[in-house]
Amino acid sequence: MSRPALVLGPPPLLAAPGLARLWAALPRVRLVGGVVRDLLAGLAPADIDLATPDPPEMVVAALARAGIRFVPSGLDHGTLTALVDGRSFEVTSLRRDVATDGRHAVVAFGADFATDAARRDFTLNAMSMTQEGAVFDAFGGVADLAAGRIRFVGEAGRRIEEDFLRALRFFRFQARFGREAADAAALAAITARVAGLARLSAERVWGEIKRILAAPDPRAAVAGMAETGVLAAVLPEATGRAAFDRLVASAAPADPLLRFSALCPAAGVLLAARLRLSREERDALAALAGPAPDPGAEDDALRRAREETPLAVLLGRAWRADDGTPAWGVLRARLATLPAPVFPLAGRDVLALGVAPGPAVGAMLHEVRRWWRAGGCRASREACLAELARSRRSQ
Ligand code: ATP
Ligand code: MG
Repeated sequence: MSRPALVLGPPPLLAAPGLARLWAALPRVRLVGGVVRDLLAGLAPADIDLATPDPPEMVVAALARAGIRFVPSGLDHGTLTALVDGRSFEVTSLRRDVATDGRHAVVAFGADFATDAARRDFTLNAMSMTQEGAVFDAFGGVADLAAGRIRFVGEAGRRIEEDFLRALRFFRFQARFGREAADAAALAAITARVAGLARLSAERVWGEIKRILAAPDPRAAVAGMAETGVLAAVLPEATGRAAFDRLVASAAPADPLLRFSALCPAAGVLLAARLRLSREERDALAALAGPAPDPGAEDDALRRAREETPLAVLLGRAWRADDGTPAWGVLRARLATLPAPVFPLAGRDVLALGVAPGPAVGAMLHEVRRWWRAGGCRASREACLAELARSRRSQ
């Protein structure tokens, strides 16, 4: 067995009650991939992935013995979701590739952590961590993460041909963790294989585009995508590079849909359908096309707008209306000083007046909220309670 590259004390995440129970039941399990990268980078991991050298049937038996519930979320490829103390954890039995066609891998169980690391895409994503906080790092991911260097595990060209999504993932991690200029050999390998991107499903492509656009500053990554031909291959609608760069530079919220709408100025239902955006994403995109607030509006009107509409949407509308002119700057500065007002009443305040639970509760609340909005969202809780009592009496 290889030796750990470093031993951190167990990070606080490891003491999370659910994880500790899971680890007691499955002592050979390790944190793997992105979660280790995020812990080392001091970021909160998006999801907690675990892996074990034990085959799925042993995992199932150990969980049953420990009384831990699980969902067989992908048991045929060795993944189940354990539900412990209200949290869910993906546990995957380690696999090795037997064959691959550029999209799907055929895998077998019974691999070790080093073999698993070799299947992962980039060195910074190929580390694993034990419950004692020992980090195993077969490919130099600790040093690459520290240097902000995105390096393929193994030979870039071959790894991209196994799964063309890795060309997009390269730009995602470059945008998020890159501090050095992107590796020239990797860029050349990507450029030579751009045609393969057409084979990817729209869902996978959009998942990566969204994450690239959510990075604090994705301008260099998007420029790299344009230079390699990746952008034209996956997003020929991206005609708004200059506006996108101005938007990112303007300190607007790092909202991926707002950035998407700047990058693809004609983004509408057709593009949303082609990329298979979720309903929420479509709604968010459509909301960006609504009317922009007037930068010279009264404070009360802006507070109302802020209460009704998320900040990123308001800024997006204004951006689309005048793309970085001074008026936009004025509006952005004014909105930045106006937190979203919080309506001070809830359903229980209506119930406390003796109103029976039912649709009437929401209707009364709605009426007081309209009154509160009309007054510029300034009325205190006491004033709102008085208005609620008044509207009840007048019913
Ligand atoms: P996120 O913060 O979005 O969760 P992540 O790196 O954890 O980022 P996941 O999609 O959760 O991304 O994947 C978890 C891990 O699985 C990755 O860190 C990487 O090790 C491996 N992985 C994911 N997709 C690929 C891929 N296409 N090719 C090789 N390895 C991959
Ligand atoms: Mg992850």
